[in-house]
Amino acid sequence: MLRLPPFRYAAPSTAEGAARLLAEYGPDAMPVAGGTDLYPNMKRRQFTPRVLVGLRGLQGVHGIEANGSLTLGAMVTLTEVADHPAVRERWPAVARAAGLVSSPPLRNAGTIGGNLCVDTRCNYYNQTEFWRASIGYCMKKDGDICLVAPGSDVCWALSSSDTAPVMIALGAEVTLAGPREERRIRVAELYGPDGIAYLAKRPEEILTRIHVPDRGGWSMTYRKLRRRGSIDFPILGVAAAVRLTRERVVEEARLVLGAVHTAPVVARDAEEFLRGRVLDGDTIEMAAGIAYKPAKPLDNADLSYAWRKRMARIEVARALRELAGLPTGDLC
Ligand SMILES: Cc1cc2nc3c(=O)[nH]c(=O)nc-3n(C[C@H](O)[C@H](O)[C@H](O)COP(=O)(O)OP(=O)(O)OC[C@H]3O[C@@H](n4cnc5c(N)ncnc54)[C@H](O)[C@@H]3O)c2cc1C
Ligand code: SF4
Repeated sequence: MLRLPPFRYAAPSTAEGAARLLAEYGPDAMPVAGGTDLYPNMKRRQFTPRVLVGLRGLQGVHGIEANGSLTLGAMVTLTEVADHPAVRERWPAVARAAGLVSSPPLRNAGTIGGNLCVDTRCNYYNQTEFWRASIGYCMKKDGDICLVAPGSDVCWALSSSDTAPVMIALGAEVTLAGPREERRIRVAELYGPDGIAYLAKRPEEILTRIHVPDRGGWSMTYRKLRRRGSIDFPILGVAAAVRLTRERVVEEARLVLGAVHTAPVVARDAEEFLRGRVLDGDTIEMAAGIAYKPAKPLDNADLSYAWRKRMARIEVARALRELAGLPTGDLC
C-alpha cells in the first residue's frame, strides 16, 4: 500500500492567511482543496510538501451565485457544480465538464478550484516512486531529461483539467488572493509555459473564485474522449461555444482543446474561420480541419498519439454539429 509522507496540516480561515503561510514556507508548502489529485500524487512522491495549507475552512470560497453572471467559490465541489439547476440551464457546458470528471466519489470531494489547478500528466510521471526510480526519473520530478522527447528542454506533460477548456471558451476569470491583495485574471492567463511551470500564478496565490460571464444567447458544449466512460482523465477535451443569428450565421465562436498540450489550446484560426458563416455540415467539416492542427499530442498519454490527433478533428466536428442541432454520428 502506498502511504502519504509525513506533513503538517495548517487550517487558516482566510485566503490571505493561507497565502501568507504559503509565502512563509515557500517550496516546502502547498495548498490542498479536496486532495483528490494531490494526495495520490504525494503517495507516489511526486510532491513531498512538509506543510499542507488546507483550504476547506476559508471564508468566502464555498458558494454558487448565479445572477446575471455565475460566480463559483473555489471550494465548491464538482458534484455541486454539475447538479446546480441554474448552472445546468444557463452554462450547460460547465455542468457537463464538471460532471464528466473522474467518478462520483471524486466529484463529491474534488473542487472546481482544484480542477483548474490540477497537475499536468504524463505516462512517465504519474507512476510510483519505485517505477520512476527504475527508469532514472524525468525532469518534472527528480530527473534531468524528458523521457518523451529526450532532446527537449521543456516538459510536455498534458493539461488534463476537464473544466479549464470550458472556462476559457466562456471567457471566465478567476480571483487570486495573495498575502496582501487580490487580483483578477482570465482563466486563459492562468496557465504557464510548460508541463512543469504549468500555472502562471504566483505559488503563494490562492484561487478563491471563478467568474463566468452571462452567456445568454450562446449555445455551448463540452466533449470528452477517454478509454472508459468513467474515472479516466481526458485524452482529449473539446469545449465549443457559438452565438448564432436566426439564420444560423455564426456571430462569434469559441473552440478550446484540452489534453493536447501543456495548457488548453485555443483554436483561434478555426474561430475566425467560423465567424460570418452559416453553421452547416460543410462549414463544420472545414472548421474542424483547421481546429485540430494546433493539437500536439505526444506519446505520453493513453492510446496512440496519432489517433488522438485524428480524433481532435472528429470531436471538434461532433461538438459543432451538436451546437448546430445536426446528428453527431456518435455510436452511443
Ligand atoms: C482516479 C482519478 C481520476 C481523475 N479523473 C479526472 C478527470 O477525469 N478529469 C479531471 O479534470 N481531473 C481528474 N482527476 C483529478 C482530480 O480528481 C480533479 O481534477 C479534482 O477536481 C481536483 O480537485 P481537488 O479539490 O481534489 O484538488 P487537490 O487535489 O486538492 O489539488 C490539486 C492541485 O491544485 C492545487 N489547488 C487546489 N485548490 C487550489 C486553490 N483554490 N488555489 C490554488 N491552488 C489550488 C493544489 O495545491 C494541487 O496542486 C482524477 C483524479 C484521480 C485520482
Ligand atoms: S513530458 Fe517529459 S519531462 Fe514532462 S513528465 Fe513526461 S517525461 Fe517527464
